[in-house]
Amino acid sequence: MANLLPATTKTMKKASTKATSKGSKTFKYPRVADCAFKFGAHVSTSGGVSNAVTNAMDVGAYSFAMFLKSPRKWVSPEIKDEEAANFKQLCEKHGYDPRTDILPHGSYFINLANPDAEKEQKAFDSFVDDLKRCEKLNIGLYNFHPGSSLDSDHKEALARLAKNINKAIEQTDFVKIVIENMAGHGNLIGSDLQDIRDVIDMVENKERVGVCVDTCHTFAAGYDIRTEKDYHTFWNKFETVIGWKYLSAIHLNDSKAPLGANRDLHQKLGYGFLGLEVFRIIANDEKLKKIPIILETPVGNDDSIYGEEIKLLEWLQDRSIDDVDFIKKSSELSSSGAKERAEHLKKFEDKAKKTAKKPATKRKSGSIDSMLSKKPKTE
Ligand SMILES: [Zn+2]
Ligand SMILES: [Zn+2]
Repeated sequence: MANLLPATTKTMKKASTKATSKGSKTFKYPRVADCAFKFGAHVSTSGGVSNAVTNAMDVGAYSFAMFLKSPRKWVSPEIKDEEAANFKQLCEKHGYDPRTDILPHGSYFINLANPDAEKEQKAFDSFVDDLKRCEKLNIGLYNFHPGSSLDSDHKEALARLAKNINKAIEQTDFVKIVIENMAGHGNLIGSDLQDIRDVIDMVENKERVGVCVDTCHTFAAGYDIRTEKDYHTFWNKFETVIGWKYLSAIHLNDSKAPLGANRDLHQKLGYGFLGLEVFRIIANDEKLKKIPIILETPVGNDDSIYGEEIKLLEWLQDRSIDDVDFIKKSSELSSSGAKERAEHLKKFEDKAKKTAKKPATKRKSGSIDSMLSKKPKTE
C-alpha cells in the first residue's frame, strides 16, 4: 500500500516535529500508520540490547539493525535471560517482528574465508556465537561481511566460507545467514555478485541463506544505480546472477566516493555521489516492500539524522522524478554535500594517477585490516 496521506500533510516538517506518546515514552519521530516500506536504521544497544528497540522507535524506524556484541572485540558478555525477555517484550509492544524486521550486523573482523586454520576457527566461533545470540532474541536474520581470501586462492576461499556457513547452519535452528555485498575488490569477497552466487551454490540448506544489498557498496564496486534505467539494469543482473528469492535486506547509504572507487565510505542520503534520485526510486520500488531497508549513514552521535532520513524516505514515496518539491530537495541536499564530494573526487583522481604510474601490485583494499581502518560508524 502506498502512502495515503493527503498531499498537504506530506511535508517533512510536520511529520518530524510531531511527537506521539507510547505509554510513558514520547518518540520524537513517530511512525506513520500507512508506511508501505520497512525503512529503518542501525541503532545503538548501549546499556543493553533491549535499548535498541526504543532507540529504533525514537527515530521512527519500521525495522532496525544493531550489533549483538562489541563489533571490535572477540569476546563479549552473554545476553542475560532477563535482557532477552525484555527485548522480546519490547518488540511485541512496538510491533517489530524479530523474525523479519531486525537485521543484526556481524562483527567486522569475522573472516570465515581466512586461510589460516586457527584464525578461521576463531572467526567461526564468534560467528556461531552471534547466530546463537540472534536465536536467543528470536531474531530471524543476520547480516555479515563475507570476508577476504587474503593471499589464498579465491575459489578455495569461497569454498571455505560456504563450508563454514553450512557448519553454522547445522549448529543453529532458524536464523537466516545474510551475505552483504562489498565495495572493494582484490582479495575481498562479495564485491562481484558472482562470488555471492558461487557461495550460495555451495550452501546446502538454501532456505537459511540470503543477500543484503548495500547501495553504497554496490556503487563503489562499480555498479551504477543512479538512474531508473541503471537501477533496473543492476537488479536484472542481480536476478540473473543471484535470484530475487535471496534478497533479504537493503542497506541504504549514499557514497562519499565516486562510482567504482572501491571505497566503503557511507554518506548521508542525497549528499554523496549517488544523489537523492536512487533513494526516490527505492522508496517506490514494489519489490522492496517486505524487507528491512536499513540506514547506515554517518550520524556521529546524533541519531536524529536517522529520524530525519526516515521521514525523508516516507516523503519520497509516490513522488515522481519531475515533482517540483523533489527537484528542490534533491538540489538542496546535493549542495550540502558538494564540498565533501569535491574532496573525495580529488583523492580518488590523485590515487588513480599514482596507480597508473606504479606497476600493478596486489590491492591493499582487499584486507580486513585496511577495511577496519576506514570504517564509518556502523560498518
Ligand atoms: Zn552495509
Ligand atoms: Zn556491513
